Amino acid sequence: MRHSAPILLTLLASTALADGTRELGAHEHGVGELYIAVDGNTVAMEFRAPGADIVGFEYAAECAEDRAAIDAAVATLAKPLDLFVLPAAAECSVTQASAELESEEAHEDHAEHAEAHDHDHDHEKHSDAHGHDDHDHEDHSAEASHTEFHAEYVLSCGNPSAVSEITFAYFDMFENARELEVQIVSSSGAQAFEVERDDPQLDLRGMF
Ligand SMILES: [Zn+2]
Repeated sequence: MRHSAPILLTLLASTALADGTRELGAHEHGVGELYIAVDGNTVAMEFRAPGADIVGFEYAAECAEDRAAIDAAVATLAKPLDLFVLPAAAECSVTQASAELESEEAHEDHAEHAEAHDHDHDHEKHSDAHGHDDHDHEDHSAEASHTEFHAEYVLSCGNPSAVSEITFAYFDMFENARELEVQIVSSSGAQAFEVERDDPQLDLRGMF
C-alpha cells in the first residue's frame, strides 16, 4: 500500500529470474523455482517450473488434449494460495496473479539446437514412412525443445508476521514435480531453501 513497489522490484531483480539471457534448456526436470519477496504487507512471488513438471510434456501443443492440459495448468497456477498455502492468521489475499507457458522458440539460440537434431528427425521420419503412424506424436516430443511455466503473484497480507510456514500443496497438484528451490527475500535478508515432495513444508518461524 505504501510505496513498496520499487523495493519489491529491486528484490526480485537481485534473483536469477531477472536474467533475460536464461536458457530454458538449462532447467532440470522435476525442479521448479519460487522466489518470494516480502515488504511490509505486500508479498510478491515469482514461480518457474519446467513444462515436464506441470503438464508432463514440453513439445508444442499438438491436439486439443494438449491444449486443454496447458489451459488447466495455467488456471491452477493462477491460484497461488491453493498451491503455496499460508496460515489463515496471516490474512493473505491475492491482489495480482498471472501465469503463462513460455516456449524456447522465442530464444535466439534455438537455431543451433534444432540443427543438431535434424539428422535424428530425418531418420525417424524414415521409419514413419514404413507405416508407424502412431509414433508421430512421440517423435515430435523427442525433439529438444523445452518449455517453462512462469507465474507472478502479488499478495496482500493483513498480518504477515503470522506467515510461520508454507505448505506446498503444489506437489499434490503436479505429480511430476519433485522439488522447489525457494528463495525468500525480506528486509531482514535473503534465505534459500529446497522443498522436496517428501516433506512439502517450509518452517519460517521468526523470519518475518
Ligand atoms: Zn525441459
